[in-house]
Amino acid sequence: MIAEIIMNSNVKNLDRTFDYNLPYDMEDKVTIGSRVLVKFGNIKELKEGFVVNIKEKSEFKVKDISKVEEKDFVDEPKIKLAKWMAKRYFCNVSDCIKLMLPPGTGTNNIANRAKEKNIKFVRILKDENEIEFNIENKKIKSEKQIRALRFLVKNNEIPSKDLEELADVTNSILKTLEKNGYIEFYEKAVERNPFIHKVITKSQKLQLTDEQEVAYSAVEDSIDDLMNSEFLLFGVTGSGKTEVYLQLIEKVLSMGKTSVMLVPEISLTPQTVDRFIARFGQNKIAILHSKLSIGERYDQWYKIKNGEAKIVIGARSAIFAPINDLGIIIIDEEHDSSYKSEMTPRYNVKDVARYLAKEYSVPIVYGSATPDMDTFYKATKGDIELLELTKRANNANLPNINIVDMRRELANGNRSSISMKLYENIKENLQNKKQTILFLNRRGYSTFILCRDCGYVAKCKYCNIALTYHSKENKLKCHYCGYETIPLGYCPDCKSKNIKYSGSGTQKLEEEINKIFPSAKTIRMDVDTVSKKNSHEDILNKFKNENIDILIGTQMVVKGHHFPNVTLVGVIFADGSLNIDDYRANERTFQILTQVAGRAGRGKDKGEVIIQTYNPDNLSIEFSKKQNYKLFYDTEIIIRKQLKYPPFCDIIIIGFSSENENNVIETAKFVYMSLKKKIIEDKLKIILYKPVPAPVDKIKNKYRWRIIIKCKFDEGIINSLNKTLCELKNKNIKDVKTVIDVNPTNMM
Ligand code: ADP
Ligand code: ZN
Ligand code: ZN
Repeated sequence: MIAEIIMNSNVKNLDRTFDYNLPYDMEDKVTIGSRVLVKFGNIKELKEGFVVNIKEKSEFKVKDISKVEEKDFVDEPKIKLAKWMAKRYFCNVSDCIKLMLPPGTGTNNIANRAKEKNIKFVRILKDENEIEFNIENKKIKSEKQIRALRFLVKNNEIPSKDLEELADVTNSILKTLEKNGYIEFYEKAVERNPFIHKVITKSQKLQLTDEQEVAYSAVEDSIDDLMNSEFLLFGVTGSGKTEVYLQLIEKVLSMGKTSVMLVPEISLTPQTVDRFIARFGQNKIAILHSKLSIGERYDQWYKIKNGEAKIVIGARSAIFAPINDLGIIIIDEEHDSSYKSEMTPRYNVKDVARYLAKEYSVPIVYGSATPDMDTFYKATKGDIELLELTKRANNANLPNINIVDMRRELANGNRSSISMKLYENIKENLQNKKQTILFLNRRGYSTFILCRDCGYVAKCKYCNIALTYHSKENKLKCHYCGYETIPLGYCPDCKSKNIKYSGSGTQKLEEEINKIFPSAKTIRMDVDTVSKKNSHEDILNKFKNENIDILIGTQMVVKGHHFPNVTLVGVIFADGSLNIDDYRANERTFQILTQVAGRAGRGKDKGEVIIQTYNPDNLSIEFSKKQNYKLFYDTEIIIRKQLKYPPFCDIIIIGFSSENENNVIETAKFVYMSLKKKIIEDKLKIILYKPVPAPVDKIKNKYRWRIIIKCKFDEGIINSLNKTLCELKNKNIKDVKTVIDVNPTNMM
């Protein structure tokens, strides 16, 4: 037999199959998806490849496969998915296979791969009577040996270290017992359990409200009928979407099948996970996300593969978990931008979910209070069934929303970043011992450093991006590449000392708050304070449990947390997301304001939200005051249609980058011409724009250009783009990285 192999490599030229002979003695060990080692070209050491097909014969003279790896491989359906993705996302098949392998095993360096953790265990070799007999006859005299043996009689097969501790004996005592034939040591794999030390009280399922019941039943029918229907669970924050998910998962569990529950990376906090553990217990649950150690992730992966975990909760990449009895896919906060990968492979998890839902005939449930425009458009067209939850489930009211015009504050002589209204409300909240969240989507101290005499702006040495001042370290930092430098004493252009630090970030805001309310306890959450493994959780727990009055943070504070004692939310500068160069600026602003407002008043007391803005007339700000998604949607969809933006077409960005600007331009022009030709030849219906520098035209010393295409992303354009990439490969322009991104989340 012949195996077709794809090498484990991201080199563009190796994205093809190579035939190898499958020796007779390997035939029953190798299947599609296996990992094998082969001689490749003139390279001395063996190289790894993935078997993607097995066939009778080859037209070439082929070498034998040298070795099979008998662990950590994927199955045939995953290979099929990887091939589908590679074509659609313009990357190597092996890039996609790597997403599907056990975590930590994708690397080419076999010695560095994750593997199971083995621990030394002890078990007893003689029975109780014999041991007691020997003790009586003084064949065993040592107190310590007796203690260890008696302990083992009661608790056989335990980790050697535990025995030493519990029976208070040393390792050498155990070694003596081993030598005398009483016990033996053996190795056993143990699960690295991220839930350890967790005590969670069990939760009972709640009586669903009428609206929840309607939503539940619709999806339940589809589970029963093995339909791959799609649902949008559209419900305000706190309307009980999670309870619906829990009960759907219970249903799927009762059928012996597995549920996938995707949540945004950032909200994959223990709080979220705890709700699932409380309902189902930790044994049936596997969680997959980047905060776990590689070893923990590796074990969680096998817990799924072995069929032990029936509920998979994770961020984006959890969609690739090794499930073979899929029953439902749930995507919570489906509008979240983390569902689209910004690294190779640049996939959108919803595409992959749709592919899998079709393969396994299972439903997908998208949940959101502020659905993606595209999802809601499909719901209005009937491609997705709309399920609505209009009220908060525990009878909590939606908060009051106030808009404060910051231009007027300025006119009235208030130069601080806290309006009078917000000041009064924080004061009142402090008096009432209620908690406050302040949201500002800029970190650091000052976000803009300007020479007042000549207009010079401090920029990164390597990126065309303004530097941010961080007061704690007293440094200017680039948020793109991490470059740091000392603050400017004078202007490097005109030598003036008239330097202005403006634009406040979270650091400065916290300082201001501490000045205005010296007795208030504050805590800050942003990329600068969240770094260690559990720090994100630590901050939230502190805020919840340690009488902290005010939580100040970037968008990390926005997502899905439930703090019953928070009655006030202040949005310091709502305009941040409006001023971005992106057709989704309005959508993003509406989403973020609605989400952050949803943090207020989740308990008994009514919530108050204060939104500070310089654009009080902007529609997304006005509609978020009304908390009316549909009004927002109806207005925004007309703009999208007029300007031909998604959902009415797809946007493809072909990005080029290199340290050599000429090569970047040459490549961009070549691709442009090649596509232009295809528009005529293949009668492509696309709008192709000329190559231009990207909005951020230099990052990490690399020049960036791009081509934008508007079209319907279908087979025609996929094939043409893949052909163009082939032509480009043959043209062989040096050192230019070309990436194609379909509907990217970041347009910069
Ligand atoms: P969402 O996921 O839509 O933000 P949650 O599921 O977190 O909403 O629900 C918000 C609160 O309402 C939670 O405290 C939850 O326990 C409660 N809740 C949800 N459904 C019900 C119900 N049917 N009866 C009573 N309380 C409910
Ligand atoms: Zn100057
Ligand atoms: Zn930089």
